[in-house]
Amino acid sequence: MSKKYAPVKKNDQFEADIIDLTYQGMGVAKIEDFPVFVANAIPGEKVRVGVTKVASSYAFGRVVKLLQESPDRNNDIDNTVITTGIAPLANLKYPAQLKYKQTQIEQLLKKQHIDATVAETLGMENPVGYRNKAQVPVREIKGQLETGFYRRNSHNLVPIEDYFIQDPEIDKALVVIRDILRKYHLSAYDENEHRGVLRTVMVRRGYYSHEMMVVLVTRSKKLPMDTVVVDEIRKALPEVKSIVQNVNPDKTNVIMGETNNVLWGNKVIFDTLLGLKFAIGPNSFYQVNPQTTEKLYTLAAEKADLKGDEIVIDAYSGIGTISLTIAKHVKQVYGVEIVPGAVDDAKRNADMNGIKNTKFVLGKAEEQMVKWAAEGLKPDVIFVDPPRKGLTPELIEAATTMQPKKIVYVSCNPATLARDLDEFILAGYHIDGPVQPVDQFPQTTHIESITVLVKD
Ligand code: SAH
Repeated sequence: MSKKYAPVKKNDQFEADIIDLTYQGMGVAKIEDFPVFVANAIPGEKVRVGVTKVASSYAFGRVVKLLQESPDRNNDIDNTVITTGIAPLANLKYPAQLKYKQTQIEQLLKKQHIDATVAETLGMENPVGYRNKAQVPVREIKGQLETGFYRRNSHNLVPIEDYFIQDPEIDKALVVIRDILRKYHLSAYDENEHRGVLRTVMVRRGYYSHEMMVVLVTRSKKLPMDTVVVDEIRKALPEVKSIVQNVNPDKTNVIMGETNNVLWGNKVIFDTLLGLKFAIGPNSFYQVNPQTTEKLYTLAAEKADLKGDEIVIDAYSGIGTISLTIAKHVKQVYGVEIVPGAVDDAKRNADMNGIKNTKFVLGKAEEQMVKWAAEGLKPDVIFVDPPRKGLTPELIEAATTMQPKKIVYVSCNPATLARDLDEFILAGYHIDGPVQPVDQFPQTTHIESITVLVKD
């Protein structure tokens, strides 16, 4: 892209219409074709923008004055959920959020010249308090240990007690844990000095089981006062079934370290999904919105149109949630997953549910798929549910070489989805039916969807 002359400078103010919303949920204003990304401004609004930062081909701005409000604006929220990025889309009313997600996918597909329709986003009836997992940084502010969330694009902690999209029982537990840490004068991690003990508190709660896991992520190997801290957490929070210390000694933004010490209780908690029981360990991925996950997997299975005699691959299988929910509809499922603890959980989950036709392999999906292809495995259906970075060309090649009739792509990032769909189309597959967005992450900019690919 040619380098544009910036028609604005820092601290300038101007009036503009907001014409679009970025993937990060920022309003877009244009001044002489030069985009200015404005926090907390939504399409259809007219605002006085104050320029906060100028780069060579775009600038950032803030709303100095809202001159004309969009009917889609939701004024019924606490602003910290926007400024911290907990719920960056909460300034949009929910129907507008669902529309936004559908449109985002449409635009990304169009950019790749992919001809496909996108269905209306399936939303939640009550799109708040849904997250079954919290991961909150612990820092010291004015001499006091605080838990909360970072201000957007920074590492400055904003103390918070109501996280809006988390299970309210998790929010309550976080306050209780914070107060116990304060009571025993445990020190908070200091990122600049790489000092202090408590880095992060993670809490997970089973939606059906109400079992809670508390993970205290520490910089130091030792957690001072561990016995009393554990005792108090147990007494105050009877739902807690597992208390784990995770040690992360590194100077890093990665939240969890490699070592887990179970301080009390079980190594895992249990929850139910589509009638199956799952063990969930501290390092395992587990969908954060159990209510819509059930819809997502039911739909994915329906779209795969399973008849009972299929060989299926579940790439990126996690703790086996997709594999195990489809196992009873097929002959054999092969799963591959990169996190060792998750593979252990998946095997145990198969046993626990009496499911005998699954096989879980530890490895990189992109390597294992090539191996399976070389071994002559002939799956009828392949499910892929990759992390945000999507698939690799090797994986797509391996998958298409095996010539499955169907590939069901569950995506949490429409940008990489569009890129990958293009590759599948080149390799002789076409999109069958509309792309179906399912709102796994209400109030946030994250977009989950299901796409079915069928061999030409
Ligand atoms: N299908 C599962 C997990 C989806 S999340 C569910 O819905 O619960 C994506 C999973 O891919 C995570 O478990 C992550 O650990 C795993 N993963 C990430 N990179 C991988 C890779 N290169 N190969 C295999 N698995 C990978």
